[in-house]
Amino acid sequence: MSDHSPEDLSTDTETQGEHSSLESRINVYGLSEPDLRAQLIELGEPKFRAKQVSEWVYQTGVTSFSEMSNLPKNLRDRLSQIYCFGHLEIAVSQVSDDGTEKRLYRLPDGQMIESVLMPYRDGRRTACISSQAGCAMGCSFCATGQMGFARHLSAEEIFEQAQTFSKELQQRDERLSNIVFMGMGEPFHNYDQLIKAIHMIKDRLGIGARKMTVSTVGLVPKIKRFAQEGLQVKLAISLHATRDEDRSAIMPVNKKYPILSLIEACHEFVAATRRRVTFEWALIQGENDSAAEATRLAQLLKGLLCHVNVIPLNPTAGYEGAPSDSSRVNHFVETLEKSGVPATIRVRRGIDIDAGCGQLKSEVERKKQAQKKESELIQIR
Ligand code: SAH
Ligand code: SF4
Repeated sequence: MSDHSPEDLSTDTETQGEHSSLESRINVYGLSEPDLRAQLIELGEPKFRAKQVSEWVYQTGVTSFSEMSNLPKNLRDRLSQIYCFGHLEIAVSQVSDDGTEKRLYRLPDGQMIESVLMPYRDGRRTACISSQAGCAMGCSFCATGQMGFARHLSAEEIFEQAQTFSKELQQRDERLSNIVFMGMGEPFHNYDQLIKAIHMIKDRLGIGARKMTVSTVGLVPKIKRFAQEGLQVKLAISLHATRDEDRSAIMPVNKKYPILSLIEACHEFVAATRRRVTFEWALIQGENDSAAEATRLAQLLKGLLCHVNVIPLNPTAGYEGAPSDSSRVNHFVETLEKSGVPATIRVRRGIDIDAGCGQLKSEVERKKQAQKKESELIQIR
């Protein structure tokens, strides 16, 4: 249910200005189909009109009233003063040589979030979307962690990131096929809105739960709760170290939920869902890329239905570590596989466009700061 009802429409819509601000209008994406129909009827529209509008929104997937060609022009104008299709405004958009498309969106309150679209040769089109503006978990190697927490995103704001890519792909006769919750933020820290967004993506974009992956830093109680949701969504755990001391040094959350409690929660997840868990491992040269570490990792994961995704660290401004070189990456993966743990080396996509979690925003902020400093200097001169 939306927070908004027609009673909230205290403004006289007939006299409202042409360019009602995004914030003052009701976000269509926040309304269920029955909600929208009910509101239109309360606004005095006949039932068949409510049906026409809801078909455009929920079946055709239009993103403006002007596309609703079977509605009279005055109704389209009136509706576009009351409702809007989402709140995201593109601030920066970049396409990498490998086809990766990175977006920085501005939200109505000025917060910025990132989404990435990754096209694969096998036809998959995967959207990596954000669940929060910033992140409270403070992982030292992560650009989002380095900027701190701003706020949770609403389910509509999470959904809209997927919806936007879905719509754009549709226009080029392609289809958004997969969703990964690996953008900015910790999805399980924003649990209820995440679950709501998963349902919206499933129901409105037709992307099955099996095609979605939630990545978590390891909030143990939420992993256990997620296991009981009855969803077939995949789970990824950002592990990055096998010893509590090492993990706590780079991921403060480990002090609250140490490694063994995390692995135990993963066993519970697999038992409840029969789904394989993915472990994310960012390889940092000389830190967590030794053969001994790989052997310890295999030991830790023994008997668990799982898979390890290895990715060389993306360097960030606030962390000194460097990505492991390719010989260490290969050796790490070989050791894991010899010990019976399946592992894949992930290529860093969109490397030329800062397509790591939180990196584009950091880069834009850094440039803004530099420009500000420069203009201050000019004033002093
Ligand atoms: N908060 C969630 C999801 C967002 S982060 C989580 O931590 O799982 C998505 C993934 O990017 C995580 O696996 C995270 O550990 C990884 N990551 C963050 N910063 C990185 C960096 N600089 N290099 C490589 N991977 C990074
Ligand atoms: Fe947050 Fe994930 Fe980054 Fe850690 S890695 S700071 S949990 S976004």
